[in-house]
Amino acid sequence: MSNYFPFYQIGDFKITTINDGDMTSSLDLLSGIERNDAEIIQHHSGIDEPDDIHINCYLIQGNGRVILVDTGIGQGNSMAGKLKENLSSIGISPDDIDTILLTHCHPDHIGGLLDAENRRVFNVADIVLHPLEAQHWLDDEQFTLADERGKRNFRLVRQTLEAYAGKVSFLNDENIAEAIMPVCLPGHTPGHTGFLIESDCTSLLIWGDIVHYPHIQLAQPTVSILFDNDPVQAKETRMKILEHAANEKLIIAGMHLGQRGFSFIHKEENGYCIAYIN
Ligand SMILES: [Zn+2]
Ligand SMILES: [Zn+2]
Repeated sequence: MSNYFPFYQIGDFKITTINDGDMTSSLDLLSGIERNDAEIIQHHSGIDEPDDIHINCYLIQGNGRVILVDTGIGQGNSMAGKLKENLSSIGISPDDIDTILLTHCHPDHIGGLLDAENRRVFNVADIVLHPLEAQHWLDDEQFTLADERGKRNFRLVRQTLEAYAGKVSFLNDENIAEAIMPVCLPGHTPGHTGFLIESDCTSLLIWGDIVHYPHIQLAQPTVSILFDNDPVQAKETRMKILEHAANEKLIIAGMHLGQRGFSFIHKEENGYCIAYIN
């Protein structure tokens, strides 16, 4: 299925799902649900490997722009890190990308920015992220408070931003391009940001890490994952955006939404369900 690239056209922009692969994880990282109940939802949803988390990146092309949203997990992961290879299979080389928008700085989103020798993979692109995201990962007090896994994440962010020094800029209230605007979705990380593409009365939101296990966290939006920096705020943000997405019939794209890439969100009696497009 690696040559499967679901896409959606919104006005002048074509948004393509680029599969980065699957990362090994565990349903035990979830809180607010028993493992057994989580497994049942995964099996009912037809998920073969209930513990794994799938990773997507998204390519936005149009009006002379080639924008990549997130870069996957990068080198050294046997099951994922397929972004570069998959971009190349649709004729895109790293130097074709003019802008990289980051939803946030977890390793499964920024890992593709550096190669195995810690050199820049993208030589042309400017990197754009929320100022609070950079502030968080550059904060020495936060670094000190982090556990060993957390410290590794801090080091990777710092090393990456250093490798792209002079190419990094911060989101503000302005649109990124005509019809593309940032949406603050804090909680998963302090500067966690979605990107809304709107044209011709159609809206598509790339919502980053609002969910990691879509079937579970739509059925039960109060379920959070260990990676949520502020689980209470992450839950509030998730509840708010799910309601908005269902009411406004937004097309949702997400880094862990699954390989099919795009879906609508439908409200159910308790919680929500996912309706994939394509
Ligand atoms: Zn994350
Ligand atoms: Zn993630």
